[in-house]
Amino acid sequence: MTDKQFAVIGLGRFGLAVCKELQDSGAQVLAVDINEERVKEAAGFVSQGIVANCTSEQTVKELRLDEYDMIMVSIGSDVNASILTTLVVKEAGAKTVWVKANDKFHAKILTKIGADHVILPERDMGIRVARKMLDRRVLEFIDLGSELALTEIVIGHNLLGRPLSDLKLCQQSDVHVLGFKRGPNLVKAPELDISLEIGDVVIIAGPKELLANRLKSLS
Ligand code: ATP
Repeated sequence: MTDKQFAVIGLGRFGLAVCKELQDSGAQVLAVDINEERVKEAAGFVSQGIVANCTSEQTVKELRLDEYDMIMVSIGSDVNASILTTLVVKEAGAKTVWVKANDKFHAKILTKIGADHVILPERDMGIRVARKMLDRRVLEFIDLGSELALTEIVIGHNLLGRPLSDLKLCQQSDVHVLGFKRGPNLVKAPELDISLEIGDVVIIAGPKELLANRLKSLS
């Protein structure tokens, strides 16, 4: 549950999936598309759906997009519209703008014009899938941007009964143990002398490279 307000501009498969997940998590979501049919599709599950062209400064002003906590621009096939919308929304004072890009050139332009986070869905998903294939003990590897990542490690036989400190994550000053899950219980910032059991899940965050090396050395 969150009291944050989100706006999703562009309701293709990606945008609709983002809307649905945010709304299912209890967030307020405004869904915007130039195409009425797409808005109708989203209207079944979002707080508000609006038909509008977000490349227009006037429209963005009227929608008060600067008041939203986070905006997702998920316009794929029309690259011009994606770039212009990002620019207009940022210039209108939007706080945090995430944008879906088609390729690395599109991504580069989006970063240059001020997108706060750029997603390359196929690349990002490919990386996550490969990491899961390489190490079945890694449940999730989430790219947090700016070279940072968050991951979950499942404890196997080799660490049974050993203290959490044996993961030797904390000697790397930039790698942090955020939490620890045993069954349904989540322990935030756990003690490092806690004795590990099979199936425990350790949640860590830090620089991507350091995490990847750490995972490699654990396997
Ligand atoms: P996917 O379906 O995988 O998400 P995609 O992003 O290429 O891929 P599109 O069908 O292009 O999917 O979805 C983009 C959506 O953005 C379309 O519904 C389109 O109508 C909408 N869109 C395009 N230009 C604008 C605009 N200026 N303002 C608002 N919405 C727009």
